[in-house]
This record gives sequence, structure tokens and C-alpha cells, in this order.
Amino acid sequence: MADKKTKSVADLCAEPWRVDHMTTTPQSAPLYLASVYQCDSPDQARQLLKGDQPGYVYQRDGNPNSDMLAQRCQLLHQADWAVATSSGMSALSAALLAFCKTGDHVVVSRDLYGRTLDLLVSETARLGIASTAVGACDLQQVQDALRPETKLLVVETISNPTLKLCDLKQLAEMAHANGTLLLVDNTFASPTVCRPLELGADLVVESLTKIMNGHSDGILGMLAGNGDHFNRVKQVISIWGTSASAFDCWMTARGLSTLHLRAERASENALQLAEHLSGCSQIEQVLYPGLPKHSQHALAQQQFGQQFGSIVTFTLKAAGIAPEEAATRFIAAAKEIPFCPSLGELSTTLSHPASTSHRNLSEAELSQLGISGATIRLSVGTESIKHLISVFDESLKSVE
Ligand code: PLP
Repeated sequence: MADKKTKSVADLCAEPWRVDHMTTTPQSAPLYLASVYQCDSPDQARQLLKGDQPGYVYQRDGNPNSDMLAQRCQLLHQADWAVATSSGMSALSAALLAFCKTGDHVVVSRDLYGRTLDLLVSETARLGIASTAVGACDLQQVQDALRPETKLLVVETISNPTLKLCDLKQLAEMAHANGTLLLVDNTFASPTVCRPLELGADLVVESLTKIMNGHSDGILGMLAGNGDHFNRVKQVISIWGTSASAFDCWMTARGLSTLHLRAERASENALQLAEHLSGCSQIEQVLYPGLPKHSQHALAQQQFGQQFGSIVTFTLKAAGIAPEEAATRFIAAAKEIPFCPSLGELSTTLSHPASTSHRNLSEAELSQLGISGATIRLSVGTESIKHLISVFDESLKSVE
């Protein structure tokens, strides 16, 4: 019972909040927003901070919600360990900072997400870490780029926006023969489509911001791996201050509970929509790893299970008009499909790589990657396929 008599208003207001008697277990995860925890004694504080006793002291060093989320991610990837980070980018930074130092070298796929290339090519140069960008589908290019001091080889499971794959098993063998770790950014796939660690990768990153959460209401990342790297990675995240916020972890854990349902539905929709768009006269090319005509369909079948992901890219024919004008007309007509330069949401969204993710590339560089002003990248959602097909059929009339 609270002591009514002896405490002033000031005393009561400053009193820490506590739930005294928990005789039943909450069915949903509690949210622990505490930035700091009370220690019983200097001895306990020392043990907790050293990691000799389990428990929490300071949120940046560890928090029940981020541990809960990390443990689920660890299981989803069948990893030895996993950590949640403040964003997908900070998961990549944590890998870079944990495994590379001045004088080292990284090999990166030329098709990586733009900000990842900024991190692993430009920012690394400032830190005295050299980098080589390669076409990672070409194993010989990767082999030629590896050096004795190459610490990381970094690729994506499915690249943006041209949905290229690379042979993860072969890359892992090549990396390991050189003493290099293979890091795979699995954001476009998620563990429902691919588990890179099972194919030999050492480290896997997810931007949890995307389909893992799936509700566009949190920015978060995850780094998981095999081997004895957990303590070093945790240390880097705490020292560089890139740990995940408890609230975002709680929100993401909630989203993650339905990942399998959302991802399965979105993958089924993506395949059916890709098949439908392939037959539309207004469309020049459709890219989707689940289509038998995709140049790497056999590899997709090998590396993925039954699902090929929720991202579909297509290029409009743009007969008699500039490519970008065709995209502008289509986007204006497809009002029901929001133009959002992200992915993995419940609803279908579209993006226009030439004006967003790839805006800094020249015409020549875009065309080398197979992107034009008329290229649209879809993140297919969970609507009914009938509705989606009717929206696309109607909107495509704008470019006839
Ligand atoms: N990796 C890929 C493939 C991405 O598409 C993104 C973001 O779009 C990131 C990493 C970065 O994730 P975040 O925005 O959560 O930092």
C-alpha cells in the first residue's frame, strides 16, 4: 500500500513507477521504455556492466524489447546471434566498424542500395579503408577484386531495381578461401524468401523498416551472423551509439508477428501481377525472379524456396513520348498505388528509380544498369489480385 501520510506532492511526483505484483503473464509483449535500471549494489552494477550477470543497466547497452526482437530475428535466420540496430544503415555501419580498420579493403556489389554504396565506398575512403565495386553476378570479377586485406564482401540477395541475384554459395566459398567474410543484405527478400546464412554467408543484414515490420511506422535494422562475433558487434553498437529504440523494437515485433502471412500473400500477388504485366501491350519488359523467363530463374529456384519476393520492376513502352513522360503519366493515372520510395508495406506502392534511388546516375550509367526514365519499381502488397490487376489495366491506358 502506498504511504499516504509522509510523502509530499514533490516526493510522490518524483517516485519511480513500479508494477509490484505480477501474478499473471501478459499475453502481449510489454514495452520497456526505461533508459536506466536500478542496481541493488555496487557489486551488482559491476557484474551487470561486465556482462557477468544477465540484466539491464542502460538502454543503449541493452533493453528487453530490443533483445526480444533480436532473438526472434536470430531464429528466423537460424543465426548464432543477432542484434537490433537503429536502422538498416546502422546495421551495415556496425558490420563495417566491427570487422574493418584503416588499411583494410572491402569488395562490394555495384548494384547495392545507393546509401550502402555511399557508406562502403565514400565513407570507407575517409576512414582509410579501400573498396572495389564489382558486378557480383560475375564470379570472376569478384575473384579478381579480392585482396589479402579484403575483410568484407558485400552483396544483396535481390538487387534494386533490376532484381539481379548472385550465387551466394559460390561467393561464400570464394570469400572464405580468401579469409573474407560474406555479408548479405537480405532486405528485398526477408527470411521468408531466403536465409543467406544457410547458403554460407557469415553476416546478414535486414532493414527492418521494410517488410519485416511491414506497417511503415518504424526505422530499424538487424545484423545477424554465425561465429563468435556477438560481443564485438554489441560493443560497436553501444560505443557508436546506434542501438535500437525500445519503442521501435516493440512496434516492429508486433509487425513481425504477421510477416509469414503478409510475405506469402505479397509474393503470390507479385508473381501473378508480373505474369499479367508481361502480357500487357504497353509494357516493354517485366523483371521478377519468379518468372521462368527471368535470366536467373534457375538460381532463384535454388536459393529461394517457394516464394520469390514482393518486388516487381517493369519498363513502360513509351511509344512516341519521352520515357520519363510515360512514367509521369502512368504514376498520375495510378492514383491508387502510392508513389512511395520505400518498400515492404501492406499496400502496393511504386517507385521511380531514375528520380529517386538512382537520381545521381548519368544516362549512360542508368542504361548500363538497364534502367530508363520509364522504369517503375513496384512493392506489391496484400490487396486482392483482382483489384490490383484492374487498377493496373486502367492506369496503363494513360500510356497507350
Ligand atoms: N538496404 C536496402 C536494400 C535498402 O533498400 C535500404 C533502404 O531503403 C537499406 C538497406 C537501409 O535501411 P534503413 O532505411 O532502415 O536504414
